Amino acid sequence: MSSPDDIAESAGAGWHPDVPITVPAPLLWPPRPMKVLEYLFGFPGLYFPWLALYALIALGLWLLLQLLHADFTRILAGWPLLLLACNGLIAAAFYSAWHYRLYSRRAQGTRFKYNPRWPKEHDHRFLFAQQTRSNVFWAMGSGVPIASAYMILTLWAQAIGIAPVTTWRSSPVYCTVLMLALVFFHAVHFYVFHRLLHIKVLYDRVHYLHHQNINPGPWSGLAMHPVEHLLYFSGALLLWVIPATPLHVLYFVTLVALAPAEGHCGFGKMMLGQSSLTTDGYYHYLHHKFFRVNFGDPLLIPLDRLFGTFHDGTRRVPGVLDTRQK
Ligand SMILES: [Zn+2]
Ligand SMILES: [Zn+2]
Repeated sequence: MSSPDDIAESAGAGWHPDVPITVPAPLLWPPRPMKVLEYLFGFPGLYFPWLALYALIALGLWLLLQLLHADFTRILAGWPLLLLACNGLIAAAFYSAWHYRLYSRRAQGTRFKYNPRWPKEHDHRFLFAQQTRSNVFWAMGSGVPIASAYMILTLWAQAIGIAPVTTWRSSPVYCTVLMLALVFFHAVHFYVFHRLLHIKVLYDRVHYLHHQNINPGPWSGLAMHPVEHLLYFSGALLLWVIPATPLHVLYFVTLVALAPAEGHCGFGKMMLGQSSLTTDGYYHYLHHKFFRVNFGDPLLIPLDRLFGTFHDGTRRVPGVLDTRQK
């Protein structure tokens, strides 16, 4: 477990976005249609660039499987192993790219870094006494296989008729709306099981592992206990009860697997030459810093407000050093 000193140390001043954090455009009242469109489809926005990239990766996986004539009705075949290998390569490349630029090369120093300190070189709380190595171990050793298992079993369930299927040709509008809506479903699912994981018995045995990352980096995102991975990716079960296509399955699991890199990168902006790309991790960074606030996604601020767990980034939570689950 982290010590109060670790928390106090990491609570030092760093960069932060404009505070107080306010509700995102879709939740403004009265409605602001142009702001909503900009929030959803602007660059950077909800869908661009990251969700669009995850959709392209999913499309690439789908084309590869088509090219190889994968028979999804046969689970004891080569395609599950191929998907596992592809997912491993994609996760390794994606998380490493974030980590290499921001933490190995330190390409922008601590500019726009929420926590002004770098994670410690040696930290006895982590496996191998090293934060990144431990995080890579859990992400690649547990996260990728469990994500792949959900992907493979859902594709198989669709193919043998257990899970309902539709096609882009027969329902193009429904398929498009579902693609756009899956990120909102993921946000709600994440909020619900994340609240559950903060119940003491589950926190002490399962969720503590993710929260070892008080000063998170990209690999922290998928560093979870296997039980948490099982819950985290279980949103894919939605696609066992509502009609979807294999592309939805590939996209949803890819989104859930890769999105935490941005959400945990620890920087508010990534410098790209003279310009910068805004990341969206401050809301969840406050959760890692204060433990019992901001359980959901910024989209779900009303839920955090409703349950009294919203932190707007402007104040210290009273008694913050006592807010950890112990
Ligand atoms: Zn986290
Ligand atoms: Zn948590």
